Amino acid sequence: MTMKTSHRPSWAEPYKIKTVELIRMTTREEREQAIREAGYNTFLIRSRDVYIDLLTDSGTSAMSDRQWAGLMMGDEAYSGSENFYHLQDAVREYYGYKYLVPTHQGRGAENLLSQIMIKEGDYVPGNMYFTTTRLHQELAGGTFVDVIIDEAHDPASRHPFKGNVDMEKLDRLVQEVGAENVPYISLEGNVNMAGGQPFSMANLKELNSYCRKHNIPIMLDATRTIENAWFIREREDGYADKSLRSILREICDLTDGCTMSAKKDLLVNIGGFFACNDESIFLKAQNMVVVYEGLHTYGGLAGRDMEAMAIGIREAVMEEHQASRIGQVRYLGDMLRQAGVPIVNPIGSHAIFIDARKFLPHLDQDEYPAQSLAAELYLEAGIRAMERGNVSAGRDPVTGKNRHPALELVRLTLPRRVYTQAHMDVVAESVVRVFENRDNIKGLKMIYEPEYLRFFQARFEPLT
Ligand SMILES: *Cc1c(COP(=O)(O)O)cnc(C)c1O
Repeated sequence: MTMKTSHRPSWAEPYKIKTVELIRMTTREEREQAIREAGYNTFLIRSRDVYIDLLTDSGTSAMSDRQWAGLMMGDEAYSGSENFYHLQDAVREYYGYKYLVPTHQGRGAENLLSQIMIKEGDYVPGNMYFTTTRLHQELAGGTFVDVIIDEAHDPASRHPFKGNVDMEKLDRLVQEVGAENVPYISLEGNVNMAGGQPFSMANLKELNSYCRKHNIPIMLDATRTIENAWFIREREDGYADKSLRSILREICDLTDGCTMSAKKDLLVNIGGFFACNDESIFLKAQNMVVVYEGLHTYGGLAGRDMEAMAIGIREAVMEEHQASRIGQVRYLGDMLRQAGVPIVNPIGSHAIFIDARKFLPHLDQDEYPAQSLAAELYLEAGIRAMERGNVSAGRDPVTGKNRHPALELVRLTLPRRVYTQAHMDVVAESVVRVFENRDNIKGLKMIYEPEYLRFFQARFEPLT
C-alpha cells in the first residue's frame, strides 16, 4: 500500500526506544487452533498467540523511563504514602478537583460513584453507555438513559462533536421523571462506544447551565478527556491557541467530579480514581473505598502505582505526546478509508472502528457480524481486535432480548507509545485482505453466555 506524503503530517514519536519486547508471529494452523480454543472470542486468546495486539488501549501503554523510575520511589506505607500526596497534587493541578480517592481502576471509582449517588428507581442520563459504567448504575438500582445526539449512532455522520449531549433528550427525561430522580448526568469524554467521539465545550457549557438550574451534578468519565481536549482545540472556535492543559482544566471546572480509568489517558498499566469538589460526597467515597478497594490513601494500588500515575498525568498533557498519539490513529484510519474499508467517521483518538454491518452485510445482527470479523482478523494475521456491537451491548434487563445496538463495530485500539508506523502498515494490509475475502465470512452462534458483561467470557461456534 502506498501513502501520499501529503496525507501524513509530520508527527514523529516524541521518544526513542530504550527497551524492546519481542513478539511472535504464528502460523495459520496455530491460529486456527487458538481461536477455536478461545471460543471465537478474542478476549479468551492467550496473548502469546497474538502478533499485534489491538484489543484495547487499557493498561497496555508503554511507560516512560521516568515512570519506571517512579516505581522505584514507591512508598509502600499502609497509610499516608508519599505517592498518594504526589498523585493528589497532580490531580489538583491538572484536573482541578479538590478531593481525591484512588481506586484500583476505573470501575472501582464507578462503583463508589454509583453506590453513593444513585438510589433505587433513579434515572441516570449519559452520552451513550459504557459497559462497566452502565452495569454499576444498574447494580445500584438506577436505569441508564441514552441522551447523546442522534448522529452518534450513525457511523457515516461526519458531525465534529458526536459525543455531544442532546439537550432536548435530557430535558424530556428530566420533565418526565423529575430532577429529584436524576442523581447526576454521566458525561464521557471521547465517547468510547460511539467510536472515540468528543463533546464540544459549547455543549458542555450549555449542559452546565441547564444542570445548575435543575440542581443536577455533572459527573465526568474523565478516562479520555485529554484526548477530547485535543479535538476541542482542533475543531472549536476560540480554542486554536489554547494549551491542552488549559482546555482540560476548563472542562473539569464545568463539572462536579469524575471517575477515571488511568489505564487510558494516563499511561499506566493499572490505576484509577474518583475525584470531586463536594466534601460530603468525598467523605462517603473515602469511607466506602475501605470496603471495596483499600485504605483511602492507596485504594487498591501500590504506592509505586500511584507514583507512575502522577508522572503519567504530566506526560499525558504534553502537546507532542498527543500529536503523535492522534497522528498514529489517523494514519491507520486514512489507509483503511482509502482502501474502501467502512469505518466510523470522523476518526477518533484511541481506535479505528470498523463498521461490521457494512463490511458483512450478508450477516444478521444475531449472527454477530462484529464478533465474526474480529475472529477472522485474528485468523488472517494474528491481529487481535475487539467486538463492540451486539455482544458488548448485552441483553435488556426487562425484556431479556439482545439489545441490537445501532453500532455493530470492530475496534482496532492503539496502545499508547507501543507500536510503530510499520506495524500500522501491516494492520492496514491485513484488514484489506480480509475485506477482499469478506463474502466468505460466516457468522457465529453463542454457545456460552455469562450473566454480567458477557463479551468478556462468552463462547461461540461458527455457523455452518
Ligand atoms: C475503560 C473504561 C472504563 C472502565 O475502566 P477500567 O479501568 O477498565 O475499570 C470506564 N469508562 C470508559 C470510557 C472506559 O474506556
